Amino acid sequence: MKRLAGKAALITGAGRGIGAAIALAFAREGASVLLAELDIDTAQQTAEHIKAQTGARVLALHTDVTQSASVRQAVSEAEQAFGALDVLVNNAGINVFCDPLTMTDDDWRRCFAVDLDGVWNGCRAVLPGMVERGAGSIINIASTHAFKIIPGCFPYPVAKHGVIGLTRALGIEYAPRNVRVNAIAPGYIETQLTHEWWDQQADPAAAQQATLELQPMKRIGRPEEVAMTAVFLASDEAPFINASCITVDGGRSALYHD
Ligand code: NDP
Repeated sequence: MKRLAGKAALITGAGRGIGAAIALAFAREGASVLLAELDIDTAQQTAEHIKAQTGARVLALHTDVTQSASVRQAVSEAEQAFGALDVLVNNAGINVFCDPLTMTDDDWRRCFAVDLDGVWNGCRAVLPGMVERGAGSIINIASTHAFKIIPGCFPYPVAKHGVIGLTRALGIEYAPRNVRVNAIAPGYIETQLTHEWWDQQADPAAAQQATLELQPMKRIGRPEEVAMTAVFLASDEAPFINASCITVDGGRSALYHD
């Protein structure tokens, strides 16, 4: 029996990277999946690939998580196509790494619009249905920046701390209605986001090597490794895990000295 058989899921920012890996893993485990993504061309290509690989029901829809109406529309289309949503993964996120005092107001707003408002917009759109049905699993993709600080990465960690706060608050609020809200905190995972960060450094190859050296396992993570944790939290194997955050970083955040 597939672990997500019969479930319907919506995943934001699922055109590429961690979101695409979660969508593929969910589909392999029998879920119907809607990819809610800003870049519709990428999302459609990813959806076709997942359909071909798994035979699952997969849809792609242009969605901007910063706009609550856009997220509500995505939820409505997913429910029309698949029936009630069992799982929401709030994955869409952007790196906004600034020096606090030279950061512009626009940088601050852009970061919070996607990394925190976007998560709330997703939760707000699915919670009424989940609460009414007395079932649901929401998974918010946070980061190890949600509890560790790297200088010069402001205000991304502030927003990611907020994602943990939101996860805990909503997890407690709706626990009596059997709606579980959890987070995953990935460490370094190899995606376009990570490569863009290396490419911004003076010596990208040296920056990449330095990152690998900092890892206890001497490698960074793969999107599929985050996806496996998302499958677990979405499945019926985690019925008593709520308002929690699972770290997927190869042990990096447990290390005291580099
Ligand atoms: P990517 O940049 O590879 O993918 C993010 C996806 O989200 C892109 O497809 C992007 O679309 C989409 N997106 C961006 N803004 C919006 C929006 N407003 N509405 C809908 N979709 C949007 O990132 P990752 O896969 O690396 O990251 C996924 C999540 O994991 C993020 O929340 C990130 O903060 C978190 N994370 C990642 C880590 C890593 O090392 N990679 C580590 C810790 C956390 P577009 O192409 O149009 O921009």
